[in-house]
Amino acid sequence: MKEFLKILPQKAQSKKRDFKLLAAKVKKLKPRQADEIFLKLHTETFEQINCLDCANCCRGLGPRLFKKDIERLSAHLKMKSSVFTDTYLRIDEDGDFVFQSMPCPFLMKDNYCMVYSSRPKACREYPHTDQKNIRSILSTCVKNTETCPAVYYIFEKLSKILS
Ligand code: SF4
Ligand code: SF4
Repeated sequence: MKEFLKILPQKAQSKKRDFKLLAAKVKKLKPRQADEIFLKLHTETFEQINCLDCANCCRGLGPRLFKKDIERLSAHLKMKSSVFTDTYLRIDEDGDFVFQSMPCPFLMKDNYCMVYSSRPKACREYPHTDQKNIRSILSTCVKNTETCPAVYYIFEKLSKILS
């Protein structure tokens, strides 16, 4: 997996045009049909990929944190929300709370998440390929093929179904 992660951005870039064309085909499907196809591919793919072998999203992307995430994480760490915010967070160019630096401060050496049971909503939902109304986030999914091997494989499988 380590070696694959090194070449993933380049591989995804080289297939970007194909993946965008696939996304355009998905966009033309009925919402329910698009969701069913993605959910099936998502389930299949995550039966084959173990996120603990990867953690690429925890290294490079980092979640946006909402008020509820900050409250939950602060309680988990037995810190005041204000102290948690000052210690770990910054406001990004979109005005959202994000971690001050990446890799995530809660990512451990063995790829486990130190705050797994209280992790931010965005971490729970990433890479979003099982979410309803998948047609509304297709451009994000194409972008995520550069970071998440699972999304990359989902698009490769999609090409066999839709080509
Ligand atoms: S969600 Fe994707 S990028 Fe994150 S650990 Fe799992 S396979 Fe890797
Ligand atoms: S909080 Fe946990 S799941 Fe979220 S980015 Fe950090 S290590 Fe990964």
